[in-house]
Amino acid sequence: MMLVPEFCRMRCPECYTNFPAEVLRDTGSGGLLESDLCYRAGNIFVYPFLVVVCPACRFAGYFAEFEFLGEFPRYSEYHPLKRVMGEFLKDQRRLYPGSEKYRLAASAARRRGAPAMQLAHLHLRGSWCARQEKNLEAERHHQEEAVRYFRKAAAEGLSGIEAAFVAYLIGELCRRLGRFTEALEAFAEVEEGALPQWLRPGFADMRERARHKDGTPQILPQT
Ligand SMILES: [Zn+2]
Repeated sequence: MMLVPEFCRMRCPECYTNFPAEVLRDTGSGGLLESDLCYRAGNIFVYPFLVVVCPACRFAGYFAEFEFLGEFPRYSEYHPLKRVMGEFLKDQRRLYPGSEKYRLAASAARRRGAPAMQLAHLHLRGSWCARQEKNLEAERHHQEEAVRYFRKAAAEGLSGIEAAFVAYLIGELCRRLGRFTEALEAFAEVEEGALPQWLRPGFADMRERARHKDGTPQILPQT
């Protein structure tokens, strides 16, 4: 399936500025799952398009947090508006790559006192974007923050599948950060029977890799 970003007009909930943005409402199908649960499918890396940054006040969040004012029509390549908008969006992509969008979204969420789990997932997605951008420093920063907030969420009390997923992610992110002792401690917390079937072989593999101090990114085996 071909994924194409939608050009639309948005209104910022903080400063009420109207601006054009490009968003995706679908994450595709088929594809691969990386060991930190980054999903890759189709022709486009979708995560940067799920978050919007207001160009006026830099408020950032998932596009549902913005007021949707309507979709732009499909202008021809030669339409002057298409060219102006294309330049604007190109500029926005350069100013706010995915890793930066998620950093801004996490800081906006933190300001309004969002739950630790939500902050953890914003940073996790930020780390996926940073990896796509080959920005190792930003990837590590987001991974460290994701671990911190997943730990906080776990300390607040989780159970069942959610507890198993979070312990797996803490373990996997620590493995990727080269913190192998912490990775093994977190993996020991994973209740294997609570993990979905499709994640169990990958979990065993990542735990084995942590034992051998292997911090390389991996693709989960398909079941
Ligand atoms: Zn704004």
